[in-house]
Amino acid sequence: MTVNNTIVRPSGDTGIYIHIPFCTQKCNYCGFLSGPATAKEQDAYINALVREIGLVADLPFTGGEWRTSPRIDSVFIGGGTPSLLDASDIGRILAAVRARYDVAEDAEITIEANPASLTADKLSGYRAAGVNRLSMGVQSFDDNVLRILGRIHTAEDAVRDFALARDAGFDNINLDLMFGIPGTDVNGTMASLRQAVSLGPEHISYYGLQLEEGTRFWADFQAGRLNEIPEETDREMYHRGRMYLKDQGYVHYEISNFAKPGFQSRHNSKYWGMADYYGFGLGASSYIRGTRVVNTGDMADYLRLVSAGRLPQADVYVNTERDDIAEAVFTGLRRNFGIRFEDILGSKEQFYDYYKSIIPRLEDFERSGHLLLTDEGITLTNLGIDVSNQIMALFV
Ligand code: SF4
Repeated sequence: MTVNNTIVRPSGDTGIYIHIPFCTQKCNYCGFLSGPATAKEQDAYINALVREIGLVADLPFTGGEWRTSPRIDSVFIGGGTPSLLDASDIGRILAAVRARYDVAEDAEITIEANPASLTADKLSGYRAAGVNRLSMGVQSFDDNVLRILGRIHTAEDAVRDFALARDAGFDNINLDLMFGIPGTDVNGTMASLRQAVSLGPEHISYYGLQLEEGTRFWADFQAGRLNEIPEETDREMYHRGRMYLKDQGYVHYEISNFAKPGFQSRHNSKYWGMADYYGFGLGASSYIRGTRVVNTGDMADYLRLVSAGRLPQADVYVNTERDDIAEAVFTGLRRNFGIRFEDILGSKEQFYDYYKSIIPRLEDFERSGHLLLTDEGITLTNLGIDVSNQIMALFV
């Protein structure tokens, strides 16, 4: 570990996130940067992505020295729907990464995939390109719910593609499952979760639907055509699902993430531990040694800047010490083991001194059973997860 000011930064390797902003159609709840594209548009984007990967390896960072551990131990190809791309495209992208960065032999290399966009050949090709983890956006095993969400696949597609992935040799698979969907109930949500578990994935992300501005759901909600499910139902879905997954042998290691022992996502854990990662592609974010960079989300700008040999950065922000401390606290609190004072401000005394104005509020949350405050650090209790936003907001 190295100490930079007051934050103890993990001295481990760096991650790489690569954004593929293409989808067959827009899901009704989706606020991600993604949409349909022609084969020609996809090709132009991949060319630019490959160029950007090289540009970052070549250039000094405009916000200061932007260098970190050159060793890469996780690559996450997310989207969008990266599984719309052929294995040869994924191979090209990963070859560009390997050509310019020192990718560890045992690096975790994940691709996000949606059912109905996979084939046996594609999956074998991804494996041959070095992808060793598959994250499938299943969301639900109820076809009616999938229709409400505007997904392009059925439950049967998900079951078939999971089997294809196993046949192709994927032995580390995540399934994304969603709860809190309008028109659903606790029993239906639990039935989907049981079906997910029956497939035996190594990892399950079980997360609540968020209504996001600019989505179809948002417009329907504003127009009174869609009702959010009641808060107590949402919480019952979460806690029953959480307990069920724990009973089935999954470790609850982050608010929304559950893994068989040893299968915690190395890449996502970087986000919660203030580790360094590069983000390549449209709208992608990086965090390197305290500097946050966000790429432009405008495709024309992205292509223009990269083809001119310029980094496609829209925003560069050097975290203040206060930013770093706050982010370390509220991302750290998402993990089941919470935060350790010695990692953040060196000791409990220093932490209490730094946050003296909010300590009484934290002690209130402890008395009400929402927090565990020990000599080592702070952990959210299961009750505390329900008010995690209120608790995290104290630190901002
Ligand atoms: S597949 Fe994922 S990224 Fe694409 S529109 Fe649906 S939710 Fe958004």
